[in-house]
Amino acid sequence: MTITEPTTTATDLDAARADLRARLLGDGVLIDLGSPGLYGRSGVFERVYQAVDAAAVRSQADLDADVLRFPPVEPLASFERTDYIASFPDLAAAISAFTGDDRTHRALLAARERGERWESFLEPADLMLTPAVCHPLYGLLTGTLPAGGRTFDIVGDSFRREPSLDPMRLQAFHMHEFVHVGTAASARAHRDGRIARLRETLESFGLEIDVVPANDPFFGRVGQMLARNQVEQALKFEFVTPVYGPDHEPTAISSANLHEDHFGTSFGIRTADGDVAHSACLAFGLERITIALFARHGSDPVSWPANVRAALAL
Ligand SMILES: [Zn+2]
Repeated sequence: MTITEPTTTATDLDAARADLRARLLGDGVLIDLGSPGLYGRSGVFERVYQAVDAAAVRSQADLDADVLRFPPVEPLASFERTDYIASFPDLAAAISAFTGDDRTHRALLAARERGERWESFLEPADLMLTPAVCHPLYGLLTGTLPAGGRTFDIVGDSFRREPSLDPMRLQAFHMHEFVHVGTAASARAHRDGRIARLRETLESFGLEIDVVPANDPFFGRVGQMLARNQVEQALKFEFVTPVYGPDHEPTAISSANLHEDHFGTSFGIRTADGDVAHSACLAFGLERITIALFARHGSDPVSWPANVRAALAL
């Protein structure tokens, strides 16, 4: 009789993450900015990143989506209505700014001179770093949608306070989302009907892809219920790839997410028939796809397989 021991441990995974991070930094693909999960990017990274984004857009061109772009911060008032702080307080981040007078400034400088932290002299600025690029959209849609709903192409900055040495987990990153807001049926069709295309697109990059129900890290005890609900109702699917080999849990690089009437209710959005609108997002995690490509095919895109380079038009 043989006793089977676990073949891998958390330490193996940490080592695999550290190896990839060291390779990306060593090869100059990423540039360490001195804070975990925050990187500068080289020209090579940027070229692949832009190719990934362009391929993502080509794959969804038939949606004929309306293009919208937003800044990396959103007003606190619209952030409030998304309920993000209820589900992910630990990932949220606010902007603070100096609003004091000369005296307060002198106190700040004195603290700084003593080598103390001085951020407590700043005040909340009623701005939040945007954690999900589609959030600023919903406030623009308050009212009644046209028949057939609307579909948007949104790419922008996301910030999530999740410092990590795993190069697949950045604090500041970009998502390219294709968002539909319409009826319960059209939102579901947008999500379910495009899963195969999204999967094909990622597979054409030479990545091994699986589509699995998502298990988001909702916060706290109420969060456990929300997480269960998300899995049981199959609200969100993730496109995962084994960045750290077959022995470790694969990493999500894209997602297909049905919000049901969450944003429709919060933002007062109605369908042409007068029902509360439903929404759904297809989201390409641009940095995660890019880094998964460097992990899979090596740091020099010139040596990548011809079919992968063709799919990316590199
Ligand atoms: Zn979204």
